[in-house]
Amino acid sequence: MDCIFCKIANGEIPATKVYEDDTVVAFNDLEPQAPTHILIIPKMHICCADEINESNSAVVAHIFEVAAKIAKEQGLTNGYRIVNNCGADGGQTVKHLHFHLMGGRQFGWPAG
Ligand code: 5GP
Ligand code: ZN
Repeated sequence: MDCIFCKIANGEIPATKVYEDDTVVAFNDLEPQAPTHILIIPKMHICCADEINESNSAVVAHIFEVAAKIAKEQGLTNGYRIVNNCGADGGQTVKHLHFHLMGGRQFGWPAG
C-alpha cells in the first residue's frame, strides 16, 4: 500500500519523531500551522475517523493519552487544539488516521 504515514511509521520515510511506542508514533508536521504542530498516528493503517470501530478504537484512546503527555513535554500549559480531518469535506489530505496536536498560539473557531 502506498501510504506516506505507514512509511513514516515503519521508518521508510524520515520524519522528526517526538514520541514512539508499539502502537503509535508522533512527529512534527512538514508544514506547521502553529509553533507546535505534531501529528499523532496509529502504526496500523486506519484510513480515517469514519473507520474507527470497536475492534480498533483502543488506539484512539491511547493517542489521546499520548497527546496529553506530549503537550506537557512541549510546555503547552495555556492549552492546545487537537484536530482530526475526516474525508473530503473534512479536508483530509492524507488517508491514514492522524490527529493534529497544535499549540503555541491562540486559535480561532471554527477555522484558523
Ligand atoms: P490532513 O490535511 O490530512 O488532516 O493533514 C495532513 C498533514 O500531513 C498536513 O498538515 C501536512 O502538512 C502533513 N504532511 C503531509 N505529508 C507529510 C510528510 O511527508 N511528512 C510530514 N511530517 N508531514 C506531512
Ligand atoms: Zn497508512
